[in-house]
Amino acid sequence: AKDLGRNSYQMYTPAMNARSFERLTMEASLRHAVTRGEFKLVYQVKVDMDTGRMSGVEALVRWNHPEMGLVSPAVFIPLAEDMGVISDIGEWVLREACKQCKHWHDLGLPPVRIAVNVSALQFRETKVPDVVARALRDTGLPPHFLELELTETVLMQRVDEVVVVLKELRAMGVRISIDDFGTGYSSLSYLKRMPIDALKVDRSFVNDIFDEEDKVTEEGAEIVSTIISLAHNLKLKAIAEGVETPAQAAFLQSKGCDEVQGFLISRPVSGEDLISLFDRDLLP
Ligand code: C2E
Ligand code: CA
Ligand code: CA
Ligand code: CA
Repeated sequence: AKDLGRNSYQMYTPAMNARSFERLTMEASLRHAVTRGEFKLVYQVKVDMDTGRMSGVEALVRWNHPEMGLVSPAVFIPLAEDMGVISDIGEWVLREACKQCKHWHDLGLPPVRIAVNVSALQFRETKVPDVVARALRDTGLPPHFLELELTETVLMQRVDEVVVVLKELRAMGVRISIDDFGTGYSSLSYLKRMPIDALKVDRSFVNDIFDEEDKVTEEGAEIVSTIISLAHNLKLKAIAEGVETPAQAAFLQSKGCDEVQGFLISRPVSGEDLISLFDRDLLP
C-alpha cells in the first residue's frame, strides 16, 4: 500500500499492475494492428419483421492480438480513439465491409445492405463523405447498400455542421441510423432536423421489456413502444438490437418494429458463414 497524501490512499495491487501493463502492451501493438492485418470483421444479420428474411447485416470489428487473442471492440475502440488511430481503423472497416457486401452480391445472393459503425471521434476527425465515396468507388458497391450507424453523441454536437455532412451522405444514397438510441441525451427538436433513416433501440431497453420471470414490465415495455412510435412519427424505421428471446421478438413485432437483430436470430459470424443465412425464414 502506498500513502499518496492526506486524503488519497491507493492500493497498489498486482491486478492493477497487470491492467496497466496490458494497456501499454495493447497501445504499442494497436498502432500497427491495421498494417499487420490483425483486424477482421464479423457480421450480424438484421431481419425484416414483415418477411422474416435478412434485410441487412451489421459489420462488427474484431482484433486478433498475436499474444492476447481476441480483444473486444468495447476495449480497443476507446483506446484507439485516445491514441488517435480510430480513423485508420474506421477506414479499414468501411472498405472491408463494402468489399464483403459486394462479394455477396457478386455470388448472386439476394442483395442486402451492410451497416458500418462510425465512432464519434472518427466522424469529427475525417471527412466521412470523402472516405465513404472512395470506399464505394474502389469496391464497386452501390451507395444505397451502405448504411452508417452513428451514436447520439455525434448528432447532438455542432448540429448545423452535422446536418450538412449527413445531407451529403444521403444525397450519395447512403443510409444513416442512430445507434444505441435512448442511451445518450438527444433533444427531440434536433432529432426532427436530422436527415436520418432509422433509430436503433438500444439492447438495454430490449432487455428490460420482460423481467426475470418473463413477465412484461410496464415501464420497460412502455419505453420500447414509445421509441418505436417516435421513429414512425418521424417517418423513420425502428430497428431493435440485442433480441435474445422469442417473446421479445413477438413483442417487438406487435409494436410494429421494422427490423430486429440479436442472438435469437444469429450471433455475429464470418462472411463465409453468413452465406447460409440468406434466402431463409429467420424468425422463430
Ligand atoms: P453496438 O454497435 O451496439 O453493437 C452491438 C453489440 O451487441 C455487438 O457487440 C454485438 O455482438 C452485441 N450483440 C448482438 N446481439 C446481441 C444479443 O442478442 N445479446 C447480447 N448480449 N449482445 C448482442 P461487439 O461486437 O462486442 O461490439 C461492441 C461495440 O463496439 C459495438 O456496439 C460498437 O459500439 C463497437 N464497435 C464494434 N465494431 C465497431 C467498428 O467497426 N467501428 C466502431 N467505431 N465501433 C465498433
Ligand atoms: Ca451498431
Ligand atoms: Ca448498442
Ligand atoms: Ca412493418
